[in-house]
Amino acid sequence: MISSVDLPKKSDVVIIGGGVMGASTAYHLAKRGVKDVVLLEKEDFFGEGATGRCAGGVRYQFSTEINLKLSLASLPMLERFKDETGQEIHYRKCGYLLVATQEKDVAAFRRNIELQHRLGIQTEWLDGDEVRARLPWMRFADALAGTFHQKDGLVDPNSVVMGYIAEAQRQGVKAFTRIEVRDINIESGKVTEVITLSGSIQTQTVVNAAGPWSKLVGDMAGISLPVVPVRRQMFTTTPLPDLPADFPFVIDFAQSLYFHREGEGLLIGMSNPDEKPGYDQRVDEAFELVNLEAASARLPMLEKAGLVSRWAGLYEVTPDAHPIFGSTPVEGFLVVTGFSGHGFMHGPAAGLLMAELICDGKFKSVDVTALDLARFSEGRLIQEYNVV
Ligand SMILES: Cc1cc2nc3c(=O)[nH]c(=O)nc-3n(C[C@H](O)[C@H](O)[C@H](O)COP(=O)(O)OP(=O)(O)OC[C@H]3O[C@@H](n4cnc5c(N)ncnc54)[C@H](O)[C@@H]3O)c2cc1C
Repeated sequence: MISSVDLPKKSDVVIIGGGVMGASTAYHLAKRGVKDVVLLEKEDFFGEGATGRCAGGVRYQFSTEINLKLSLASLPMLERFKDETGQEIHYRKCGYLLVATQEKDVAAFRRNIELQHRLGIQTEWLDGDEVRARLPWMRFADALAGTFHQKDGLVDPNSVVMGYIAEAQRQGVKAFTRIEVRDINIESGKVTEVITLSGSIQTQTVVNAAGPWSKLVGDMAGISLPVVPVRRQMFTTTPLPDLPADFPFVIDFAQSLYFHREGEGLLIGMSNPDEKPGYDQRVDEAFELVNLEAASARLPMLEKAGLVSRWAGLYEVTPDAHPIFGSTPVEGFLVVTGFSGHGFMHGPAAGLLMAELICDGKFKSVDVTALDLARFSEGRLIQEYNVV
């Protein structure tokens, strides 16, 4: 046994995973007065999984009521973040501009915007000419329509993780890096203990917040989670002084190709529709060329730009692109995972909801009972259209 750290022998709650879900859950538990909490992260630093590799996009523009409600709960929490935790998170409201170039997407965008308006989300509708007028630097001759929401934007993911963890620690939560959970003991259908190479912790409540690795953690408890890791990658460019500072987060929806300001340059990414599930986080150079070509065709000034950095990370994907919240057939084994490429922005609300479940026995802020694990075996899937 490695004994470089003194892990507590017992804890009320053990959270597995130090990304946005684990950090937010720890913070909200502490805020509710549950302070005998241990958070375990296997990497050298918190937020090194999907959260630290994500694009930092936050948006109101979703296609299902439940995701819209999660955004309505979560984005205002990001606006209040500095007041609550003291941590600056650099929320930039540059707006998301989603561009449709296919008739089927135009129809879906119309349905989405109607639903958004019904829930009080004032997304703007743009016709093809209005899209082109807003993006004079880009080639969008084929744009048929677009939608824009001014309060969508960008937030720094690491600041959110560190803000939550630092405040949780100030309130008594014990958070450890370099501690990998290897097993979970179950007795008579109940969680009893979490096993690591540095020791074991007795507990009756475990939160699986292991993101793309949550299926592996589920397996430790004998719970099969339909969450698969899928690689996504992006790169940043050298400065592009001809682009304005308020350049929006542009999404070419049909190609899953996106652009947003990153410093003086741009961050550009594209989803590979042929990517197979797996844990490889190396950049796929062949697909990077596909991405570069598609991006330059949309934004010709990229031909003069250089590459500054590039990385890949893993989406934690479920069959209906919606997360899994709550309890499982093993008593005390709770999950908050499967956000399928848009979990960073819903992390604040997700942690609050997990704290409500643990403290009050039910979700209060947003009714996410439909996002239970049982929906997969009972055929109650809810498909999200706006997956990028
Ligand atoms: C390239 C990319 C771009 C994205 N862009 C956006 C975006 O713009 N907006 C948005 O909202 N979302 C985005 N996402 C999705 C978002 O990053 C995720 O949905 C979210 O970060 C998931 O958070 P998490 O805490 O569940 O997972 P993670 O951040 O991966 O955290 C899980 C943690 O658990 C740890 N862990 C795993 N197994 C163990 C174990 N056995 N013991 C201890 N620790 C363990 C891991 O090391 C990891 O740190 C993007 C994702 C990627 C990959």
